[in-house]
Amino acid sequence: MNPVKPEGEAAPSNFIRDTIVRDLETNKYEGRVCTRFPPEPNGYLHIGHAKSINLNFGLAEEFGGKCNLRFDDTNPSKEETEYVESIIEDVKWLGGNFAAIYYASDYFGQLYDWAVDLIQKGKAYVCDLSAEEVRQTRGTLMEPGKESPCRNRSVEENLDLFARMKAGEFPDGSKTLRAKIDMASANLNLRDPVMYRVLRAHHHRTGDAWCIYPMYDFAHGQSDSIEKITHSICTLEFEDHRPLYDWYIEQLGIYHPQQIEFDRLNVTYTLLSKRKLLALVQRGLVSGWNDPRMPTISGMRRRGYTSEAIRNLCRNIGVSKTNGTTELSLLEYYVRDHLNRTSQRVMAVLRPLKVVIDNYPEGQVEMMEAINNPEDESAGTRQVPFSRELYIEQDDFREDPPKQYFRLSPGREVRLRYGYFVTCTSVVKNDAGEVIEVHCTYDPATRGGNAPDGRKVKSTIHWVSAAHAVDAEVRLYETLFAKEDPSDVPEGQDFTVNLNPNSLEVVRNAKVEPSLKGAAAGSRYQFERLGYFCVDTDPGLVFNRTVGLKDTWAKIEAKTK
Ligand code: ATP
Ligand code: MG
Repeated sequence: MNPVKPEGEAAPSNFIRDTIVRDLETNKYEGRVCTRFPPEPNGYLHIGHAKSINLNFGLAEEFGGKCNLRFDDTNPSKEETEYVESIIEDVKWLGGNFAAIYYASDYFGQLYDWAVDLIQKGKAYVCDLSAEEVRQTRGTLMEPGKESPCRNRSVEENLDLFARMKAGEFPDGSKTLRAKIDMASANLNLRDPVMYRVLRAHHHRTGDAWCIYPMYDFAHGQSDSIEKITHSICTLEFEDHRPLYDWYIEQLGIYHPQQIEFDRLNVTYTLLSKRKLLALVQRGLVSGWNDPRMPTISGMRRRGYTSEAIRNLCRNIGVSKTNGTTELSLLEYYVRDHLNRTSQRVMAVLRPLKVVIDNYPEGQVEMMEAINNPEDESAGTRQVPFSRELYIEQDDFREDPPKQYFRLSPGREVRLRYGYFVTCTSVVKNDAGEVIEVHCTYDPATRGGNAPDGRKVKSTIHWVSAAHAVDAEVRLYETLFAKEDPSDVPEGQDFTVNLNPNSLEVVRNAKVEPSLKGAAAGSRYQFERLGYFCVDTDPGLVFNRTVGLKDTWAKIEAKTK
């Protein structure tokens, strides 16, 4: 389990950092550090990307270098400008201070010239096999692949065919340009990988200028090279691609960045695959990419997570060379930890029960002083109206209290936070026998919450004044998936079988204190005794529950000690 480190502590050392330190010592890149964050604009960023952002921008900042934001937009059929815009917004929100924005598509011309260069060097050939035939002749880990019948085409023929591929003479999928490496290589990625394919698809930036597009492997390293990246940090699944990354750059004889791999972030109860997240959006199973249940940066922001909390998680989990899974409760720990220190406390009642204080003067309103944030004195205080008729939480009253129940019940005295001691004297029920109103008396000597005679009460409950309360809708969230590992799908079924049917509960008639009237979207609060809530962007006063107060992390921590 990951140890919890306080915010602000220097990033723990790791093998990537050590490599950079060593390279600086040996002056490998003339003392430069240049990283990049290279998302493909085919979806919104998720919490996994935050780890990569934190690492790339964090290392650049720590060593006085720079980090580029580069869109890896070589796959036009899936990419859109909407995604580009959301990615820029999310990277900025996470604190990523990019030196410049680049697009792999800006390098299409250069990449084409480099492909021609490899053909001229006898290192690439045009192949007539279909994608399926390329796959079939690739061999396996046990068996070598079969050489393409086109492998020994002359340089002249290859140059001519490649130019005609570019000119649009061949239908989609009918030809590829392949690197001539080794069909018997132990690394399958080196068995004459495809460099270019014919694809007539409108590109979000280059439009219809191209009908051939480079493959990821042929574009990525060279893009790094063009930008003079020093350390090209990527996830572990690219480890097997590193020999190919190096091969292209060596054959071309161009500047050589260093690829370093780290472990992907996985989180319990969460799927971090853009393809699957897109499916949820397209099938209407969530309200959009920024649905507060989504593990996207925009979803988390809308839900009330702070970028500080996400950064603290990323800093704390560090990097390693083996993939693992991080507990969702650890992320929630960081969210709570930050919100506890920064958010304004308010009183809100989700499921209201009317309380009438019979001996409180009718028409009287007292302003009670309430503390905005006990963790931050500078947050000051506010005035909360108290009156004869209040709402409390239905859960805070029991007609027949169980043994360990110390909140309000007939004959029992409790403290109303910032108010008075009240004692329940009677209840009013509806025809169904449900309590719809509770009557109390109050002790005027206990104003502010303490009895002069020193008598104690066992419970303090929150409330809002009925006449002053503001109506609100509150959305309560549980995990989007019911299974700890949502990718564990029974054979023949779709991953959506693991969706949690109770991931959203809408409470429509909550009552909140008057200071929340007109609260701006994005404002974060702690509803006393209930949890952290954030104002949604939907019209009307709508709150998203960011996270409850219960600290499951503390329990886990105790167990692992
Ligand atoms: P997905 O499978 O969700 O589509 P991806 O790796 O294809 O993810 P990219 O847009 O290509 O998404 O990723 C941009 C960068 O973010 C890459 O360097 C990638 O390695 C990194 N990244 C993506 N997902 C994670 C993750 N779960 N943990 C850490 N880094 C990640
Ligand atoms: Mg990708």
